Order: sequence, then structure tokens, then C-alpha cells
Amino acid sequence: MKITYPKLTELELKNKRVFIRVDFNVPLKQSGETYVVSDPRRIEEALPTIRYVIEQGGKVILGSHLGRPKGQPNPKYSLEPVGSYLSNALGKDVLLTEDCVGDAPRGLSHQMRVGDVMLLENLRFHPGEEENSPEFVARLAELCDVYVSDAFGTLHRAHASTEGLPRVIKHRAIGLLVEKELKFLSPLRENPKRPFVLMMGGSKVSDKIGILDFFLSRVDTVVIGGAMAYSFLNAKGFKVGKSLCEEKQVQLARKIIKGADARNVRLILPEDHVVSLAFGDTQNVSVTQGIDIPDDKLGLDIGPKTISKIGAALQNAETVFWNGPMGVFEEPVFAKGTFEVAKLVAQSKAVKLVGGGDSAAAIMQAGLESSFDFISTGGGATLEYLEGKSLPGLKVLEIVQKPQI
Ligand code: AMP
Repeated sequence: MKITYPKLTELELKNKRVFIRVDFNVPLKQSGETYVVSDPRRIEEALPTIRYVIEQGGKVILGSHLGRPKGQPNPKYSLEPVGSYLSNALGKDVLLTEDCVGDAPRGLSHQMRVGDVMLLENLRFHPGEEENSPEFVARLAELCDVYVSDAFGTLHRAHASTEGLPRVIKHRAIGLLVEKELKFLSPLRENPKRPFVLMMGGSKVSDKIGILDFFLSRVDTVVIGGAMAYSFLNAKGFKVGKSLCEEKQVQLARKIIKGADARNVRLILPEDHVVSLAFGDTQNVSVTQGIDIPDDKLGLDIGPKTISKIGAALQNAETVFWNGPMGVFEEPVFAKGTFEVAKLVAQSKAVKLVGGGDSAAAIMQAGLESSFDFISTGGGATLEYLEGKSLPGLKVLEIVQKPQI
């Protein structure tokens, strides 16, 4: 059974009102009285699709969420800063609507001229978006003739704009960003070049258990860093002091350790740590000599021996997938592990892919972006896709070709 998706380049866009579901859920920072976009990567990645629709004579209507306003209008989550950034990037006016549905945006959608760009205010200001309510879908459907799915980072959500709307719009396709994400991520889940090194960090084992489970039969080496590592070390009988570690996570870690042993997968865990007396304590920082962490301390980054060990493991890798920081990288004294690992991966000759979020932010901060083959814009969506789950926003667009007998 072969699964494909309708492509943007196959659609007739001339004079059409084209709703593009984008992922403009970007970090903002305060600048004087207002907010500005602090990491525009997701906006930049959406530009090829927007420009393509403009070039083809379409009228662009952009829909996105930002943050978690919980179904209520809230100026803190307005897409206004995104509109300003986008207007500069495109070199044209971008009209931000006051509400994403209703008479005003519908009227405006009919007045738009070819090449105009309209940005709808935060879709999550209405509860119908996350509830995927048919009424809200119908109100969105009034705004467009064509639907384009380009919010890769939101495809794992069955929301009105990602799942309900493409169900009711006949002329629909995936956008250029979703096409690119699938081009890089699908070989990884189907047939990665070996040796394959999977590197996971961050805080929660529960979020990564699915991907670890799925890849155990496809990888050669698994590297575990970040807070996750303490659950694994605890499961192996080492002392983790006051480090983040819960019994439930330790049980999950045990399951992975057993699976790795059974399949001869090499599991690399930290051999030394950067520790401190409390979370947020940046004064009493030291490096442990060995794996055990004293009872009064907690691990907040991997140590130098661990960094070298990871470097050696990357030596002959043909594929590397990395997701999650190796320590509390937001704090400079605990950021070394993550940045050094970013450098080591960048230097490797392997095909290098990164699953969004914090690891992507670290790579940008280190200016290493160009050394990577692909940095996904999705966090949770990327992990769910890679662990073989079906994403609602993709499923709805599937074209299933049965093999000919
Ligand atoms: P996740 O969302 O699961 O990828 O986790 C990312 C978060 O994990 C980041 O905010 C890091 O600060 C945090 N983190 C990484 N290492 C540690 C650690 N050793 N202790 C506590 N938090 C950590």
C-alpha cells in the first residue's frame, strides 16, 4: 500500500482564496511596550509556500495558533508581532484581522486582490479550534476556496484548522514545508543508513518512550542525556542524588534498557555530571568524578568524560537523529554539554537530522545551522511521526494506492 499526499503544485490557485494553515507558534520577547518575534524560524520556513501562492495569482489567507489562550481572546497571544515580521519578510502589507472568523474576515476575503496577504488572528481564541467543532470548521470554510496544510508542528493535533477544515474543502494539498519535512523524516523511519545513532535528551522519558521503543529495532547506538538520563542511571542502580527522577519514568527506562540489551543496541549514558545543590543554584557548581551523584546534589548537565564518549560514538555514524538538550542549557553554566554535543554532531560526516524545539534553538544559537542536513520545525509532531504514529492532519489528506494484482 503506497500513501501519497496531494501537492501544492498540482492545485489551481489563480484568483482563488487560499487558506494556508501555518505554524506561527513562535517565541516572543518583550521590546519596550510591545512584543517581537525572538525566533522567526517557523515563519521563515513558511515563506516558500506563501510566495508560491502569490506567484501563482492566489489570495493568501493565513491561519495559525500562538500559545495556549484556552479558547478566549487574550492580547498576550495576539499574532500582531508575527504580522509585523511577516510584512517585513514579504515586503508587502499583511492585514491582521481582529477575529479569525465572522462577517469581517469573510467580507475581506471577498475583497482581496490577487497577491494580497491576510493573517487571521489567533485561531485558539475560539474554543471550537481545539474542539474541532463542526460549527467552527464551517465558519473557517466560508473564508476559502482552497486549503493548504503547511503547519508541520501541529499535524499531530486533530483541530478544526488542521483536520476538520481539510475534510470539507475539496481543493486541498500539503504545502512546501510539510513536503520537505516528509522528504527528510520518512527515510529515517523507513530505511535509515546504518550505523544510526539516536541521541535523546530533555526532561521527560514519557515523551520519548515511543520513539525509543520504535527505533530500538533500527538503531545501533542510543545516547541518553538531559534529565531523562537519571531515570536510566537509577534503573541501573547508580546514585542520582536529588536529580529529576520519578519511579514511573524509571520503570519506562528499565523497559528500554531491557529492549536495548535484547537487540544488541549500544546504550550510552552519562559517566560524569555537572552538579549543583539546587535547581537554579549557579554558585555551587562542580563536576563529579564518576557516575554516582552525591545525595545532596543534582545533575544539571553532562560532564567532560561523557562529551568525549559521545564524540567517539559519532565517529563512524552514517545517520544521526538528535532531539532534546543534554542539560539545563537555558542557564550558561549548564549549557556546555548541549553546545559541545551540537558541535560534535555538526562535525560528523553522517546525515544529521534534528527534531525541533530546544536542540534546534541550541544549534541556531551556536550558528551551526548550515552543518545540519535538516532541522525539523516540529517538536511533538516530529516525534509522533517518527515513532510511526498516524498524524490526524496528514491522515485526512492521504491518498492510498492499493498495489495492483
Ligand atoms: P523536553 O521538553 O522533555 O525536551 O525537555 C527540555 C527541558 O529539559 C529543557 O528546558 C531543559 O532545561 C530541561 N533539562 C535538561 N536537562 C535537565 C536536567 N539535568 N535537569 C533538569 N532539567 C533538565
